[in-house]
Amino acid sequence: MGEARAILRRTFGHAEFRGLQADVIGEILAGRSALAVLPTGGGKSVCFQIPAMMRPGLGLVVSPLIALMADQVAGLQQSGVAAARLDSNIDPAEKAETWRKIDAGELALLYISPEGLMQPWMLERLSRTPLSVIAIDEAHCVSQWGHDFRPEYRMLGRLADIFPGVPRLAVTATADSRTREDIRTELRLHDSREFVASFARPELILSAERRRGSALKRVVELVAARPNRSGVVYAGSRDGTEKIAEALRQAGVPAVAYHAGLERNLRNRRLEEFLEADAAVMVATIAFGMGVDKPDVRFVIHADPPASIEAYWQEIGRAGRDGMPAEGITFYGSSDLAWAMRRIGEREVDEAVKQVQVRKVRQLYALLEGASCRPAGVRRYFGETGVEPCGQCDNCVSPPDSKDATKPAQMALSAVHRLGGRFGRGRLIDHLLGKTKEVSDQEAAMSTYGVGQELNAVEWRDLVEQLLFEGLLREDPNDGRPLIGLGDADGVRAVYRSERQVLVRLEAPAPEAKQKRTRKGRETAAEMSPTDQPLFEALRSWRSRAAKAQAVPPYVIFHDRTLAEIAQARPSSRAALERISGVGEGKLARYGEAVMEVVRSFAE
Ligand code: ADP
Ligand code: ZN
Repeated sequence: MGEARAILRRTFGHAEFRGLQADVIGEILAGRSALAVLPTGGGKSVCFQIPAMMRPGLGLVVSPLIALMADQVAGLQQSGVAAARLDSNIDPAEKAETWRKIDAGELALLYISPEGLMQPWMLERLSRTPLSVIAIDEAHCVSQWGHDFRPEYRMLGRLADIFPGVPRLAVTATADSRTREDIRTELRLHDSREFVASFARPELILSAERRRGSALKRVVELVAARPNRSGVVYAGSRDGTEKIAEALRQAGVPAVAYHAGLERNLRNRRLEEFLEADAAVMVATIAFGMGVDKPDVRFVIHADPPASIEAYWQEIGRAGRDGMPAEGITFYGSSDLAWAMRRIGEREVDEAVKQVQVRKVRQLYALLEGASCRPAGVRRYFGETGVEPCGQCDNCVSPPDSKDATKPAQMALSAVHRLGGRFGRGRLIDHLLGKTKEVSDQEAAMSTYGVGQELNAVEWRDLVEQLLFEGLLREDPNDGRPLIGLGDADGVRAVYRSERQVLVRLEAPAPEAKQKRTRKGRETAAEMSPTDQPLFEALRSWRSRAAKAQAVPPYVIFHDRTLAEIAQARPSSRAALERISGVGEGKLARYGEAVMEVVRSFAE
C-alpha cells in the first residue's frame, strides 16, 4: 500500500486515501475481485486506476458512455498516465497507435464500452494481452431493478470465464441491497467482498418545494439568482426542456436543452459545450442525464420530480462532485404522483414488479412531502444506520410548521361529495369561496356553497393538494381536464368524524432565503471567504483560457476545489503549491508556473 499511496500523492496530488479507497485498492492488489459502492464524487476512479498502474498488464475500464470515458482519459493524460479509449469516435490512426501501445505493454488503462469489449475479435485480441484489472464502472446498469438498466451490461458476466485470473472491480454510486445482489449475480462476483461507503454527501444542500401549477417561473427565478455558475435542470419531457431553456435564455442565462430527440451531432455539441463551459445551464430530460457528468455543477433543479429515491440521489448527486457546496432543489406536486402511479398501472409487467414500483414512488413522495432531514432520509432508505440530520437541508434549517386544517378539510370533502366528482380544482375552490361564475340555483342552494371564507384561494389550493397527497381526494386525469373525486372511503369517513386530523404546512420562506440565515451543520462543506473570492475567480479565468487552448474541459486541468484551496493558501513556492490536494507532479510541471503567476499578481 505504500506504493499506492505514493502514486496517489505523486500522480493525483491527494495526501491521503479517502473512505474505503485504500481497502478496495488493497483487495484488487491482492488479486481478488470486489464490488465497491461509493457515493458520487467519492473517488471511485482511483480505486481501479491505481491498481491498473501498479499491477503488470493493461487495465480495462468498461464504461457506459463515451462522454464519461473521454473525460477520464483526458484527466489521466493531463496527470501523465498512459490512458486511451477505443470507441466509434476514435479515428483509425489513433486506434492503430493505441493498439501499438497495448502490444508494447506501454498502456496502463484502456477505456471501452461494454458492446465494444464483448465483440469476439476484441475478446480474442485481449485474451493475448496480460490484464491487470477489469473495472466495470456504473455497475448498477446491469440491474433491471435499478433505473439505468442497459441490456449490454448483462454480457459482462462472461468476463469471469474469459479472464479467470484477472481481478474484476464493479463500482457504482447507487445500489440498494437488491441492486447489489443483482450486480453480484449478473457479474458473477458471488464470493467477492463488498465495500459499501456511507452515502453522506455533506456538500449537498437539499430542498424540495411543492409547486403551484408549472414550476417554470420558480425555476427561472432560482437559476437567475445563481449567476456565473453551472447547473442542471431536469424536466420530465422533451418539450419541457425546450420551454425551460427558452425561458432561461430570455432571462439572460446561457441555457441549452438536451434530450434524446435532438439530432445526434447537435446533442453531442451541446454536451461538449456544457462540459467545457465555466458557467452554463443544461436543461435535460431525466431519461437522458447520464452523460451529464461535470464536477463543478453547483445546482441541480428538478422542475419535474425524479422517479424514485435512487434516481433522486443519482440525479442531484451530479451536483458538487468536486466536493464544493452545491444545491439540489426538487419541485413536485400531487399530479406528478398521480401520473407516476398511472404509468405504473399501464406497464406490461408482473404484478409483483408493479407493487415494488408503487412502493418506490410512495417512498419518494413521503420523502419530498416529509418534514424530516432529507439526506438522512435517503441514507436510511439505502440501509445506513446511525444517520444524523445534515443540519443544512430546508427541513433542518427551518422545520416546517403545520396547522390543523381538519375543519376546512371536512368542508372540501363534503363539497366534493355534493358536486359529485364532476368538477376540477378551480371550480371546487370557487364553490367553497362562493365565487362560481354564473352559478346555477341548484349549486347556490348547496350547504357547502361559499362556506370556505376562512381560507383564501391559495390556501385552498394547498389544502386540496394535501388531501390529494393523503389519498383523501383523488384526481381523475380525464384527458387533461382533471376531475376531483373522493378518495379512500375509510379515511374520508374518519376525517368527517374528526377521528383523523389533517395538517397543512404553513407557507415557509423561500429556501434560498432560509439557508442564508443559518448554516449550522457539523459536516457542512467549507465556504470560501470573500477575501479569497477574487483570486479564485482569477484562477478560474486562467484555467478557462488554458482549457480553451488545449480544447479540454476546464476541470480536467484543476477542479474548482483545488482552485479554491489555492486561493485560500496562496502558495508562494512550488513546494507549497504541490501540497494542495489535486496538484500532482504532472500538473505541477505543466501548470505550476502559470498558477504561481496568478497568485503573485494578487500578492502585489
Ligand atoms: P466518482 O466517485 O464520482 O467517480 P471521482 O473518482 O471522479 O469520483 O472523484 C471525485 C473527486 O474526488 C475528484 O475531484 C478526485 O480528484 C477527488 N478525489 C479522489 N480521491 C481523493 C482523495 N483520496 N483525496 C482527495 N480527493 C480525492
Ligand atoms: Zn437535513
